[in-house]
Amino acid sequence: MADQTTKVLSFFGPPGTGKGTVAQRCVREFGYKMLSTGDLIRKHMQAQSNLGKQLAEYVNRGQLVPDDLVTQMVFEWAKDQVKPGATVILDGFPRTRVQAELFLQALSEDPDLSRVSFKVINFELSEEEIIKRISSRLICSNKECQSVYSTIAKMPKQAGVCDLCDSPLVRRSDDEAEVVRERLNVFSKTKNELLSFYKESDQSVIDFVVPHGLPDVVFDAFIKAV
Ligand SMILES: [Zn+2]
Repeated sequence: MADQTTKVLSFFGPPGTGKGTVAQRCVREFGYKMLSTGDLIRKHMQAQSNLGKQLAEYVNRGQLVPDDLVTQMVFEWAKDQVKPGATVILDGFPRTRVQAELFLQALSEDPDLSRVSFKVINFELSEEEIIKRISSRLICSNKECQSVYSTIAKMPKQAGVCDLCDSPLVRRSDDEAEVVRERLNVFSKTKNELLSFYKESDQSVIDFVVPHGLPDVVFDAFIKAV
């Protein structure tokens, strides 16, 4: 008999560790389902659902969406999407201790989701390597395209020009080393709180030290580790 347990993998880690790329590849190669909270927020806002209207109040003011609202949204998605035996990747969720507490409590109280196994994959990479990766990132300046390139991992065919639409490539101001360093400082405080919650509540956390190298190398190492 096939394993009917639903697996929820939470991919956790700072920006620049390549967790989104690994998640997309798991979807392509193993048929996993994947949730990005940013995409789901946009979908709800476009659909102008009840939740979408509440989310829009924060997003349109440039504020962070409160933890309880994000968690409610992810949980509703999980209830709707998660089928017995499926594997689901939550890319970047839970991001805070409060989100993790609320989400795990909701899972445990729901009769349909009580058989879900929850596992955290903690993507680890040194600050210097993250800064190197992010500051090598180039984005297509065409708003409709926004393809991402990297001067170390994915060079465009012609320097400074998008392969797909021939528009000039630019560096986002968010990707400057100084800004990245600041974001990583904020991240590391949240990370400590979240990981100590997982430890206290005996959740399974796999530390995945992201190897240096191209996405293929990272993916192979990921398969071995997880
Ligand atoms: Zn382009």
